[in-house]
Amino acid sequence: MKLTHLDERIHVLDAETDVWKVVQDIAESGVQEEAFYVCDIGDIVRKHKEWKLKMPRVEPHYAVKCNDSLNVLVVLAALGTGFDCASKGEINKVLELGVDPRRIIFANPAKPASHIRHAAALGVDTMTFDNESELHKIKSLFPAAKLVIRIRCDAAVVQCQLGMKFGCNAVTEAPHLLKVAQSLGLDVVGVSFHVGSGCGDAPAFYRAIASAKMVFDIGTSLGYNFHLLDIGGGYPGNKGSSIDKIAEVVNTALDEYFPDPELVRVIAEPGRYYVASAFVLATNIHSKREIPNGEEVAHIMYYINDGVYGSFNSLLYDHAQVTPIPLNAHLGKLVPSSVWGPTCDGLDQVVEKALLPVMPVGEWIIFEDMGAYTLPVASPFNGFPVPKVHVVADQSIWFMLKDLLPLTEDDFVMGNTPANLRIGLDVGGSGSIQDWAIPLSPRPV
Ligand code: PLP
Repeated sequence: MKLTHLDERIHVLDAETDVWKVVQDIAESGVQEEAFYVCDIGDIVRKHKEWKLKMPRVEPHYAVKCNDSLNVLVVLAALGTGFDCASKGEINKVLELGVDPRRIIFANPAKPASHIRHAAALGVDTMTFDNESELHKIKSLFPAAKLVIRIRCDAAVVQCQLGMKFGCNAVTEAPHLLKVAQSLGLDVVGVSFHVGSGCGDAPAFYRAIASAKMVFDIGTSLGYNFHLLDIGGGYPGNKGSSIDKIAEVVNTALDEYFPDPELVRVIAEPGRYYVASAFVLATNIHSKREIPNGEEVAHIMYYINDGVYGSFNSLLYDHAQVTPIPLNAHLGKLVPSSVWGPTCDGLDQVVEKALLPVMPVGEWIIFEDMGAYTLPVASPFNGFPVPKVHVVADQSIWFMLKDLLPLTEDDFVMGNTPANLRIGLDVGGSGSIQDWAIPLSPRPV
């Protein structure tokens, strides 16, 4: 890896300290006023471990668009995931970490010409398509590319639909597109789909894998030898959510339709799964307004220093729902309240209705599960800065990372780490890191 240091140093937590304690310490330090994030690297590592346990055959290619913080990318690169990039900017970000271009899938079915040229020049040769004009473009710009046809298969329950924009019909469009690819002499190597982001309909993966098998068979009938199945994104990542149901459906469908791992390599493009719960956001109440009803306070409006033009853009773009948690829960009587962002726009509302304790100006409101589709889109509109990220890891994670990552001790800030901790500690349960970290050596697509 080329990287020599992270954008933010990783704070190593001692056994008595958890993320909430860190949030509390920063918030109540007396010097903190801006909103800030705490990112727990251990949460990302534990997600990876869970993925490897639950879907051992499926190689995750993290969707960079979801959260492109350098810390996230560096850790995932070290754990050995691949990457799903949507643009040359994302490709550059990943390649700058020293990741082998063969670990990247350029998973955008509609790519600007300059981005295809860029991918060709840098050896990112696997890319998706779902239309004929893309095939002609790729023929002229990168005829040696390895192509993956994206089919449409929509989940019935999703947080964000994608099918209206991408994915060809497996029955009415895919056969024609494959014939065009064949007539152009292009190398189609497999099939991809994305059932929709934040999928609440696990059986959609079964239907999609069955459709993909049908398209594999069409490819075979045309003389292609498909060997890559990309089952896209859609896996939930919030605290308390689970990929168990999806994993069960995926594993069953793979056994039924693609039983031989030697013949078909299976990858996925998880985004929110890896990062959603790893980021906690702390916001500060800088103003408040009490709306009277006679002698009573009917409603309190709290104004915090992050809003829909910042981190909470996810309310608009990602259809996210957020829960305000007062940092000090003991504050007393609950009052109907709303929470507003800091800009002068009336649209900038974070929570429309909630029962919250009466809080003074200067108090903190915390939001969990803020890692997905928040930071990459946030803007400093109205002059309010995008919150800074504080990165933490517990000691076992630190011991693992410092061996896996291209980091020096300068990248870590140590607490009271006992010198006698064993290297290679287990992470979040049984099995040492070697059991589930994919080796750093590149794996060709
Ligand atoms: N792959 C592609 C092509 C996407 O467009 C997206 C999200 O929009 C993802 C993967 C990540 O999806 P998720 O965050 O639901 O896992």
